[in-house]
Amino acid sequence: MSSKSSSQVIKCKAAVCWSMGEAVKVEEIRVEPPQPSEVRVKMLYASVCHTDLLCIQGYPSPLFPRVLGHEGVGVVESIGEEVIDIKEGDIVIPTLMSECKECENCESGNTNMCLKYPLGLSGLMLDGSSRMSINGKKLYHVFACSTWSEYMVVNVNYVLKLESPDDMCLPHASFLSCGFSTGFGAPWKEAKLHKGSTVAVIGLGAVGLGAVEGARMQGAARIIGVDKNERKKAIGEAFGMTDFINPESDTSTGSGCVSHMIKDLTGGRGVDYCFECTGFAPFVSEALEATKLGKGMAIVIGATNVKHVQINSLTLLCGRTLKGSIFGGLKPKTDLPLLLNKCKDKEILLDQLLTHQVSLPEIIEAFQLLKHQDCVKVLITF
Ligand SMILES: [Zn+2]
Ligand SMILES: [Zn+2]
Repeated sequence: MSSKSSSQVIKCKAAVCWSMGEAVKVEEIRVEPPQPSEVRVKMLYASVCHTDLLCIQGYPSPLFPRVLGHEGVGVVESIGEEVIDIKEGDIVIPTLMSECKECENCESGNTNMCLKYPLGLSGLMLDGSSRMSINGKKLYHVFACSTWSEYMVVNVNYVLKLESPDDMCLPHASFLSCGFSTGFGAPWKEAKLHKGSTVAVIGLGAVGLGAVEGARMQGAARIIGVDKNERKKAIGEAFGMTDFINPESDTSTGSGCVSHMIKDLTGGRGVDYCFECTGFAPFVSEALEATKLGKGMAIVIGATNVKHVQINSLTLLCGRTLKGSIFGGLKPKTDLPLLLNKCKDKEILLDQLLTHQVSLPEIIEAFQLLKHQDCVKVLITF
């Protein structure tokens, strides 16, 4: 049953990007009521993911004006008439993708790329329309939602309800809606990392730290973190990193080349698995080069605006695997609740990710904070 409020348009503040590369502005927008299979969410917290910066530059396609943000946590304000498993007042996080559990891909058990509820690249609802507008102009989303807004409407299949929100730190739940989970999922679901293996993680932002934690949980014997920021050494170690490479200060090999540095640390053999988390295109090739001959696997989880990357064909031909993954291969309904539980049970401590906090009207400052050396995650409060 939908309530009376679900029939009303809400006027609220949101962070709007008007055109490619333009600074984000906080504007008053209109948010329509949810359609039958949708929910309207009042945001409590949101966070900044590296991909949001790419979205300002037109990633994955130049859809403007758009309301940014795809990480967050909120309370369901109203529901569409066909929504049965979510009710008003439930605390939910949005998910990039969904899981129907019956399409060919969901049934295969080998991928999280559901065919029925795909990754939302149109920036619109599943019916091709938008519930957000400004001055009569349609506003696009980032993937399935727009979290940098006081209210948003999202298809009910693209949210996950928190079963015991009182026991969960809500800012942490926001971080788990994309970045950290993407990293955590990759060693677990995508690489299916074997116990005792050697791992390298390029880039120690929230995604990379998630990959370090995921590799540790899977029983990796050695986890080498790579980051040009020396301050990431301590935080990487807190998540289970065993070795640290700073490619800008580590000149022992004289090459300045990340794959050589990883090989130097592993007796020249390279690692079993290398996770590329920066989105810096040349590192895709470096990640593959850094893996073992005949059986190494490089997993790309950092998003980039660069469409084509160069790979040494002989490196690939010699038995290595190059794999890409969205959301670390995590299935939002099957796998994400397990990760939320680990956080709730304090098996994973995300306090160290939260380095900065801004209110929605201060959102423009978030982009400056991201350049700060200590910055891992910027939390947006409403
Ligand atoms: Zn499916
Ligand atoms: Zn993200």
